[in-house]
Amino acid sequence: MKRRSIAIDGPAGAGKSTLARQVAKELGFLYVDTGAIYRTVALKTLRCGVDASQSQQVIPLLDHLDIRMDYGPDGGQRMFLEGEDVSQAIREHQVSGIASQVAAIPAVRDFLLEFQRKLAREHDVVMDGRDIGTVVLPQADVKIFLTAAPEARAKRRLLELEQRGASADYDTILRDIIQRDEQDRSRPVAPLRQAEDAQLVDTTALNLAQSLQALLAVIKEKIVL
Ligand code: C5P
Repeated sequence: MKRRSIAIDGPAGAGKSTLARQVAKELGFLYVDTGAIYRTVALKTLRCGVDASQSQQVIPLLDHLDIRMDYGPDGGQRMFLEGEDVSQAIREHQVSGIASQVAAIPAVRDFLLEFQRKLAREHDVVMDGRDIGTVVLPQADVKIFLTAAPEARAKRRLLELEQRGASADYDTILRDIIQRDEQDRSRPVAPLRQAEDAQLVDTTALNLAQSLQALLAVIKEKIVL
C-alpha cells in the first residue's frame, strides 16, 4: 500500500511540532519530530565531551550510536539513547544549539536519512524538520513551509519555557532563534529552505487553532482523507 506523507518544514519556534502533532492526531497518521533525532545525537556529543563544531570528533561516535524512537501511552514521541529515555534531556536549551551544529555535518545527515525514510515507508506520516520536503521526502504528498516573524517565535518560546517553570529571557531567546535560523539556512548540506512545491503558511498573526485550520485546509486540498 502506498503510504501518505506530509512534510512540514520551517525555522525554530514556528510551532511546527505542536501543529504537526495535532495534524497527525486529527488524520490518524504517525507524527515524526525529526529535530528530536538530531537533538539525541547532540546529547550524545555533549555527554562524551565532544566539540560538536568539529566534525572529525563527532563522526566516530556514529559507529556505535544507539538511538531508538518509540511512542508513549499518550502517543507522544519518546527518544532513547543507549536505552535511556532522554525525551526530557534533549529539550534543554543548551542542546538546541549543539543540535544545529551536528546537523550541519553531512555524515550525521546521511546517517539519519535512512532512519527517517524507513518510517515514511512503513507508516502514513506527518514529519517535521528542516529538509523533509527538500531532501528526506521529496515525493511527499503535501509540503508545508511553516514560518512566523522571529519576534513572534521568541515570544511563544518564552511562554512555553515559563509554563514549564524554566527561567528564560526574551532577548536571549530571540538572539538564539535568529542565530540558529542563520546556521540552519546557511549550511551547505540540506539547508533550511522552502521547497519549490511547498505551500507557505505564516502563523505570525494566527493563534494555535487558526494555524491548525490553515494547515488542515492546505492538506485537504492535496489529499483525499
Ligand atoms: O526542530 P528542532 O528545533 O528540535 O531541531 C533542532 C535542530 O536540528 C535544528 O536547529 C536543525 O539544525 C536540526 N534539524 C535539521 N533537520 C531536521 C530537523 C532538525 O537540521 N530535519
